[in-house]
Amino acid sequence: MPCQVKPVSDNAIALAPYAACDTNSRGRQYKEPPPDYRSEYQRDRDRIVHSAAFRRLEYKTQVFVNHEGDMFRTRLTHSIEVAQIGRSIARVLHLNEDLTEAITLAHDLGHTPFGHAGQDALNRCMKEYGGFEHNLQSLRVVDTLEERYAGFSGLNLTYETREGILKHCSPRVAAQLGALGERFLQRQQPGLEAQLSNVADEIAYNNHDVDDGLRAGLITIEQLDEVRLFQQQYEIVISQYPALTMRRIIHEVVRRMINCQVTDLIETSRERIAAANPRGIDEVRTAPASLIGFSATMQDFNIELKRFLRTHMYQHYKVRRMTNKADKVVITLFDAFLDDLQLLPPEYQTKVISQEQKNGIAGRARVVADYIAGMTDRFAISEHVRLFDISQ
Ligand code: MG
Repeated sequence: MPCQVKPVSDNAIALAPYAACDTNSRGRQYKEPPPDYRSEYQRDRDRIVHSAAFRRLEYKTQVFVNHEGDMFRTRLTHSIEVAQIGRSIARVLHLNEDLTEAITLAHDLGHTPFGHAGQDALNRCMKEYGGFEHNLQSLRVVDTLEERYAGFSGLNLTYETREGILKHCSPRVAAQLGALGERFLQRQQPGLEAQLSNVADEIAYNNHDVDDGLRAGLITIEQLDEVRLFQQQYEIVISQYPALTMRRIIHEVVRRMINCQVTDLIETSRERIAAANPRGIDEVRTAPASLIGFSATMQDFNIELKRFLRTHMYQHYKVRRMTNKADKVVITLFDAFLDDLQLLPPEYQTKVISQEQKNGIAGRARVVADYIAGMTDRFAISEHVRLFDISQ
């Protein structure tokens, strides 16, 4: 088979008229010449993959702490799973696969160590100084915190990738974000690739939390009896394969759950797009509601699954014990650094001085929050030992 030259711009790919296309991109903050052999969104994706924040996702977790076991998902494997789901759906719907990949790979870059417990703790620490929100922090990572390029801070990503990263935002913060914040003030939708990435994230984490939770023994098959999405697939699998080992049954059921949700999402979104008939991305943005979504039945199933995980997994006493420790590590680190800047590495001390000149104590707190948010689980734990264990 002859080699095919990769298309240089998105125009060469069969995209739907309502898909994002790099030739119509709202562009980058700092003007750059177009890439020679990639599309603009491929370039975004490549910058994300080469970033320091992306590498650190390997040692950050969502529910479990990184050292608890090698078989659980990390933020890195989660992001790769979200990208897989997102890209598959984007291709079927003729949306921009490269943009979807860029958004999905970047969506968790701003997460703190220790998953939701770390984010909640840091948000409480930052209450007086503007708060902390992981979604906004992901944008901060790609807009300013990555230090890799000679000409600018951050990764200088396209508007569309940044739009996808910022899933939600309060009106107060949106008002400070310029063009990117406008849609929250005007109650508009983001592009379809952003809408898709958001749902792909949900499909990935709900289903893999079932898988990880069963493997960790935090939840049981019997408990999952109340979750219709699980139960329906479980019945089919054990009737078709009665002799299968439990390990394989779980895999097979979770695989089918993901497939059910993906199929429903494709079919429902296709119908909604056909009904709305947007002629371009601007009509997607001004549509009254999101065009990517589940059917009403699947939405019910999804809510049921989320509710189950909240009650039985995230509130499980073993998870609570871990999150309680994580909470304390983040709070003690924050207080110590805010109190005594000289405990920070020198480059952060310099940043504190410059931010303090601009924003006073809130500027100082923000640099401390950036430092802590950038830590992996294991780094936060060892930093805590270095600071508070006298024998170290
Ligand atoms: Mg995620």
